[in-house]
Amino acid sequence: MSVLVVGSTALDSIKTPTAENPRLLGGSASHAGVAASYFAPVKMVGVVGKDFPRRYINLYKKHAIDLTGLQIGDGKTFHWSGEYELNMNNRRTLLTELGVFEHFTPHLPDQYKSSNFVLLANIAPALQHHVLDQMRRPKFVVADTMDLWLNIALDDLVKLIRRVDGFVLNDSEAHQLTNEDNVFAALKKIHQLGPKYVIIKKGSHGSILSSPKGFFICPAFPLHKVVDPTGAGDSFVGGLMGYLSRARGSIDSNIRKAMVYGSVTASFCCEGFGLNGTIKASTEKIKLRYKELEKLTRF
Ligand code: AMP
Repeated sequence: MSVLVVGSTALDSIKTPTAENPRLLGGSASHAGVAASYFAPVKMVGVVGKDFPRRYINLYKKHAIDLTGLQIGDGKTFHWSGEYELNMNNRRTLLTELGVFEHFTPHLPDQYKSSNFVLLANIAPALQHHVLDQMRRPKFVVADTMDLWLNIALDDLVKLIRRVDGFVLNDSEAHQLTNEDNVFAALKKIHQLGPKYVIIKKGSHGSILSSPKGFFICPAFPLHKVVDPTGAGDSFVGGLMGYLSRARGSIDSNIRKAMVYGSVTASFCCEGFGLNGTIKASTEKIKLRYKELEKLTRF
């Protein structure tokens, strides 16, 4: 079993209160794809420009990511820049240069169309629809999003939510979508939009799942120092889908463990700029943190 990951492939310039790092490998598909690769083979769909550094392609390859679906456009790679406040939670976007992303249409290579596990990482909902239109009866589809699409493409997004099995968003997006301050009330409203599984991410406070089997409250792995949380949400859902695609049994019987694996994978992401933290993870290190989190939450 492999995971199909579709999303943005970007160059990220990130500013924190103590450091600044230009043109790191970023994008929702890069973070999610590398995270998922610790659990399962990954097929990726995205677009980069001619300026995309060779070393980043090599990084994908080192993680055995299938790049047949990675388009190389005539122009510059999508460039995003963000700045964090002292608390390392609040972030503002400084710049978005769409480049080749502006005219991107995600074409799926034929061999991708029968993938069972599909992660529609954060991109415009119209593009996420386009991916689903090309799929042949996938087993489990999860979509992620961001505030931008709630602001400018709400209709498309609501239609997409109806088409997926799982929908993942953060707490402020859930509030924006439902007008509910209470996370459980928000989960209920999002369920009514269609998906069987809804996960609300709460940054360093973990995440909450609402499913046919009830709620699950998943902690974040306790870190003493966050270097750069960019992509933590993407790594969470990447790890989750990677684990699910390889686990035996039903989604219901595996999704809680999958969230804990997602949470642990995201913790590695926060320990370095761009993907520098995530690439230092390993299956063994992930398992150790999983066990630690298990001990921390047993009562
Ligand atoms: P997160 O920290 O999980 O919100 O994800 C951050 C990633 O989202 C960065 O690597 C960015 O390159 C990517 N990103 C930022 N803006 C967009 C956008 N409009 N569409 C797709 N991806 C984006």
